Amino acid sequence: MGYSIVFHSLGLGLLLQLTFDQEYVLTPKTSRNVRIAEELGLPMKKVEVCPGRVVAVITWVGSRPELKSVVLNSHTDVVPVYEGHWKYDPFAAVKDADGNIYGRGSQDMKCVTIQYIEAIRRLKAAGKRFSRTIHLTFVPDEEVGGHKGMETFVKLPEFHKLNIGFALDEGLANPTNAYTVFYGERNPWWITVRCPGSPGHGSRFVENTAAEKLQRVINSFLEFREKEKHRLNISECFTLGDVTTVNMTMVKGGMAYNVVPAEMDVSFDLRIPPTVNLQEFEEKIKAWCKEAGEDVTYDFAQKHMDQNFTCTEESDPWWHAFSSTCKAMNMTVKKEIFPAATDSRFIREEGLPAIGFSPMNLTPILLHDHNEYLNEQVFLRGIQVYERLVPALASVPPLSGEE
Ligand SMILES: [Zn+2]
Repeated sequence: MGYSIVFHSLGLGLLLQLTFDQEYVLTPKTSRNVRIAEELGLPMKKVEVCPGRVVAVITWVGSRPELKSVVLNSHTDVVPVYEGHWKYDPFAAVKDADGNIYGRGSQDMKCVTIQYIEAIRRLKAAGKRFSRTIHLTFVPDEEVGGHKGMETFVKLPEFHKLNIGFALDEGLANPTNAYTVFYGERNPWWITVRCPGSPGHGSRFVENTAAEKLQRVINSFLEFREKEKHRLNISECFTLGDVTTVNMTMVKGGMAYNVVPAEMDVSFDLRIPPTVNLQEFEEKIKAWCKEAGEDVTYDFAQKHMDQNFTCTEESDPWWHAFSSTCKAMNMTVKKEIFPAATDSRFIREEGLPAIGFSPMNLTPILLHDHNEYLNEQVFLRGIQVYERLVPALASVPPLSGEE
């Protein structure tokens, strides 16, 4: 059983149909991928990164194909819905009287996928050609961690053959008139702290219990949580991406009312900005554990150590092309660290610059939420934005080492 999403771009003749299987991952419907590539008059390649997981790459070769390329990346999967909470069928792309188009993926990130395609279509129709090659990459699996998508793709020779200089990927909506641009992401650390203790009968004052140690561990993590929350609240320029968030997400231990347990464990989800010294931060965690008890240990279920972020100095030719285009279109741009995780982190881990940008201003952030929508005016304006951005990026003069 598949779900179907259809977007009509209102008099622009755009119709894009993407079908999702039960895991909400794009099924390799060759006919549709091929149709879009054929309509654009561009070749398409498919790379099966894992069994049943296909990355599609549509390529517009530049006049100087030896130069590094520009990648327009989008993921093809969406998250599930609670259908009862939606005003309209979340897979019918209903437009209301205000021009708001409702649909799962309308913000995350069908809008951007279609805007890329439409911008390329218009530029081609206008007879344009640029020095740098442009690749449109359509990647599965982002919403479930990217393991069977971008994380694997970046390790394959097919990825390296793309000869990437710069990548655009998804961002977030901004409720104000400004556009948010993401140049880095926080590192997720998922940690479990194990507190052993003396077991015994529940009727006595057992010394050195697991519960006392657990309490000290929780106190240390949550005191730090409060400090970070305070730092965010008192700062005018900080956003969520600039501080470390801490949440206690799991507690395990105990077997009966009258048995003092031999171990209790607690797990935390930490998200750490790239500006934090990760070695020092881990020392801090070590110290909290030691204070809680000599035998308290910890281990990681996930520990990302990538501190790459993309240069946003005006001297950087890619950033300059991006930001000067925005300026020329009177767009206000706000630079931020992405608070969660996207496929951009895998691209940056390869040492490549990537900017997270979804041109959605004046729009509430509704990704993964009920009643996700995007207004048609914002959507159509986004196509114009890419019509200017893509030429600027694909015309960045040869960099040192490229000639
Ligand atoms: Zn997304």
